[in-house]
Amino acid sequence: MNIPFLSFNDINKSIKEDLKNEFDRFIDDGWYVLGNKLKTFESEFAAYSGTEFCSGVGNGLDALIISLKALGVGPGDEVIVPSNTYIATWLAVSYVGATPVPVEPRLTTYNINPEEIEKKITSKTKVILPVHLYGQACEMEDIMVIANKHGLTVIEDNAQAQGATFNNIKTGSFGNINATSFYPGKNLGAFGDAGAITTNDEKLYRFANIYRNYGSEKKYYNEIKGINSRLDEMQALFLSLKLKLLNSWNAEREAIAATYHSLLENVDEIILPQLANNATSVYHLYVIRTERRDELQSFLNQNSIGTLIHYPVPAHLQTAYSELNYKKGDFPIAEKIASTCLSLPVYPGLTNEQLVYITDVIKKFFNA
Ligand SMILES: *Cc1c(COP(=O)(O)O)cnc(C)c1O
Repeated sequence: MNIPFLSFNDINKSIKEDLKNEFDRFIDDGWYVLGNKLKTFESEFAAYSGTEFCSGVGNGLDALIISLKALGVGPGDEVIVPSNTYIATWLAVSYVGATPVPVEPRLTTYNINPEEIEKKITSKTKVILPVHLYGQACEMEDIMVIANKHGLTVIEDNAQAQGATFNNIKTGSFGNINATSFYPGKNLGAFGDAGAITTNDEKLYRFANIYRNYGSEKKYYNEIKGINSRLDEMQALFLSLKLKLLNSWNAEREAIAATYHSLLENVDEIILPQLANNATSVYHLYVIRTERRDELQSFLNQNSIGTLIHYPVPAHLQTAYSELNYKKGDFPIAEKIASTCLSLPVYPGLTNEQLVYITDVIKKFFNA
């Protein structure tokens, strides 16, 4: 049995005919950028996220950069970020000239530990930027309490968690302004690059909406120095179609996670992902931990099971961040996760038979 780490076959099969029909309509319309299809998707995604506004942009990194710009973050400012995240979260902070200040996650949930945030707040701190990593909502209630207490703003990095909730409230609706990504591999993926900003703040929304379009609302009249980062009509059209199925796809991912849990809970050598109280996960990734990670990964590979490591090198140890002078040991929890984590296949269409095969191979490895 050959099981790739990720496959779009099942998702695409279910919508192929609809996509083709919509694409036909799109060609006949002949309007490619900033049109009605984007407007429609933006209002649909705002409604899905439980926010008043949504602005479609070119990708998730730009969504983060524009959110930071909207809050006026720049040189001299500090932004609290998780020590374990995809590099994009840190890069966005660097791009606006601010400094990322890492805070360790909980080893159990992999999400930023609210109890550690206050220790890192200084007079320069402007924003707390939690990441709903691997699909699980951060402990947003505690994070918002800390932000309010210190007069800080919050940006959620919701690239991996569209549809997740904390206390029954959707991720992407807690922060002042929030960023998400529709990179093809995300839970809601486009057929190329795309991203969005969600917010309830009309002023921030308006800033984002014009910043992504050269700083212009009225053509050829520029209020601010913006960039070109727009979610195009074709991707918006496809995303509208796929958004209708996101809840059922997320439910399928949750069911897969539950199956992994029941099939693996008695394997002592591995640690399974855990949820925080009141948090749900849409299982963008199903990440287990084991001290024998590299051996397990190659054994799975020999048995034709694809896995990945998210992420092998924490941001503070990346060459790109040598300027911050961090060394090995500075963020031991992030480093521990990086050296022990392994992402198993999780995507709509993965069958029970495949899950039994994957978990049988894992058990065989540890029993040998
Ligand atoms: C994917 C991702 C991003 C960046 O999104 P792109 O669309 O690839 O630019 C940012 N943050 C996290 C946590 C991500 O997983």
